[in-house]
Amino acid sequence: MNAIASSMARGACPALDAPMLTGDGYLSRVALIEAISPAQVIALFSLSVKHGNGMLDISARGNLQIRGLTLGSAAKLEADVRALDLPLREGLAVEWSPLAGLEDGIDPRPLGLAIMDHARALRGRLAPKLSVVLETNGLLRLDDLLADIRLVATGETGWNVFLGGTLKTGRAIGFVRDENAADCVAALLDHFASLGLRARGRQIEPATLPQDVLRHLEPVKTHVSQPQQNVFGLFAVGQAYNALRVALPFGQINARALAEFARQAEDFSIESIRPAPDHSLVAFGDEKACANLHGVAEQVGLIVQADDPLRQIDACPGSPSCNSARLETHALGRFAASETPGLFDESLRLHLSGCAKGCVHPTPSPLALVGSENGSHLVFCGKTTDTPIKQLAPGHAKAALRALARLIETSRRDGETNHDCLVRLGPGGIVAALGEGP
Ligand code: SF4
Repeated sequence: MNAIASSMARGACPALDAPMLTGDGYLSRVALIEAISPAQVIALFSLSVKHGNGMLDISARGNLQIRGLTLGSAAKLEADVRALDLPLREGLAVEWSPLAGLEDGIDPRPLGLAIMDHARALRGRLAPKLSVVLETNGLLRLDDLLADIRLVATGETGWNVFLGGTLKTGRAIGFVRDENAADCVAALLDHFASLGLRARGRQIEPATLPQDVLRHLEPVKTHVSQPQQNVFGLFAVGQAYNALRVALPFGQINARALAEFARQAEDFSIESIRPAPDHSLVAFGDEKACANLHGVAEQVGLIVQADDPLRQIDACPGSPSCNSARLETHALGRFAASETPGLFDESLRLHLSGCAKGCVHPTPSPLALVGSENGSHLVFCGKTTDTPIKQLAPGHAKAALRALARLIETSRRDGETNHDCLVRLGPGGIVAALGEGP
């Protein structure tokens, strides 16, 4: 096992060989580059019960995380996972659609593997959280994932290259032809390595890029991106496959429930399963097998409806799972989904964080309820560490959510989203609706 990722450090990135300390013990990440069989899924889940606390995450980026480990059990987990001979992604995080190779259009995997191959020679010289995203504009998009280097396919001939941010916020630096794409990204990675372990895409000035990168770049190609679809539930992939995409509430579930899902998948002759972005899982098989598995998914507690409010809530493990937590985030999230569904119109994500560390959503959220010494506090359009607009006394979080839902119901104008409504009302209007006192 490599040096342990520093304790609960913001810049650390857990891996199978570098577990990270969290509020409920060490966490190891199992990143896969291909789907695996239901039998392999069952084996993996039973390892999380054997070595960890039996709780599993699928992260926003679609990585499986095993929780509740000790340093000793993490080492045993690593050995046991390697013995399963899974298609593990090691080293640099190069990410592409979980549907790659099955749907029509460009297959990003050969390029991704070439980039990972080059990155192996730079091991230990790149920022631990550095990532490369290859976007092929398919049924399941990665537009919202942060990426240090993002390549966006523009038809069959090549890729627009972006540095830092999401698709919306990244800076386009040029277009690279398909045959030069691997060399271009390799030169970019060499440049990152030359700048040291802290170099990230958002900091690189395009004007300072070396000739080794620039010689591959042409002016950015105009490309009209199709609207993001992000399929969910049952759908067809390409000519030959059907699939089922479901999600884990708050990105977390008991391994036994997921093992039951995989066992039934095996009985229905589902071919393969893989974790996917946005805390989801995709199963591949024929139409009947996928339809049968849809019913099982609901029974074991997975989210099966695209518009389920739970999909619009980010919540860390919170209390009682995490020792640092001051808020029962999952109970509060379930309350919000069932009692205040009017809050969730897809414009307004709610972040419930057990403490100010903000593990599951380090970037700003429209609304964040954060556990604190004296109850909780509400942050509007900010990070969990930003100045709150309102302190809430212990036990007042549910009342605050109800007041927010009422405020939106009574104040939203025609054509306005919930988010736009709260932005128009501003912190003053929101605080007034929450009433006096902590
Ligand atoms: S954000 Fe949540 S999971 Fe992270 S340390 Fe705080 S309470 Fe624990």
